[in-house]
Amino acid sequence: MAQSWRKMCVAGYVPVGVEADTVALVRAFPDEPRVVLVTGGNRGIGAAIADRFAQAGDRVVVGHRTNLPPNFSDRIVSINLDVTDPRTLDEAFAVIEAELGPVEVLVANAGITRDNLILRMSDEDFDAVSDTNFGGAFKTAKRAAKGMLKLKRGKIIFIGSVVGLLGSAGQSNYAATKSALIGLARSLARELGSRSITANVIAPGFVETDMTNALSDARKSEIASAIPLGRFAAPDEIAEVAYFLASPGANYISGAVIPVDGGLGMGH
Ligand code: NDP
Repeated sequence: MAQSWRKMCVAGYVPVGVEADTVALVRAFPDEPRVVLVTGGNRGIGAAIADRFAQAGDRVVVGHRTNLPPNFSDRIVSINLDVTDPRTLDEAFAVIEAELGPVEVLVANAGITRDNLILRMSDEDFDAVSDTNFGGAFKTAKRAAKGMLKLKRGKIIFIGSVVGLLGSAGQSNYAATKSALIGLARSLARELGSRSITANVIAPGFVETDMTNALSDARKSEIASAIPLGRFAAPDEIAEVAYFLASPGANYISGAVIPVDGGLGMGH
């Protein structure tokens, strides 16, 4: 085990928050925790989700595309994984499976926006959002399903959005990818359910992260006034629901779209 972890570090798969000290790493993971992969887990909602699972004792791997996560607990390791790059996807799964075992919980969280009104939206902006939010989630789930089928259990959680249900002017590309995740999750729920694998979508409303920090204060106030709870969510509030969906308490929930939006999308 110590050797494996050292190999993982040497290969560039960096333990977060600790020195490359095998004793610390071995101690960090209890005997039979689940292997949890969170894509785009180095910041924002993904980082909060990774932290929530790690606090509960799971073995958490965050996929990072650019920057390493900053101040995670020593129960989380980080691996280079760009969901639009099949090479990093294959390499990441190969290392995770060899070092930790099959991914039992996948949180497909990586996402981007490239907003514009449709006539001004470039094909590149459409493709980038589609390839990341939908294509990336599809390919990651496909790869994770392989291990889950062998395990005969698993939880796939897609991070969608309230705008996938409501639509959003200036976000036709983004909203369409988030709607697509619902069709994907529901199809996987039907395909994989007989092996005790669930697939669900969380549809957050507006959450305080870098993604929404790009909005002006005036726009944030306007949005908040349309939310029954009158505020944006904290990333932890999404993480708590992801953790629940992966828990035994949610074993009979599949193909569901769970709103975590302060009431913004009610009725949709
Ligand atoms: P952030 O912009 O804070 O973080 C996005 C994360 O996705 C980063 O870790 C980023 O990595 C990663 N990412 C982007 N592209 C890729 C890629 N090709 N491969 C791997 N990772 C990638 O966003 P949030 O935390 O706010 O959003 C997380 C998810 O929640 C997204 O799917 C988003 O659509 C969804 N969401 C967010 C809402 C909000 O209000 N914030 C509301 C509803 C849904 P890097 O650091 O390398 O850029």
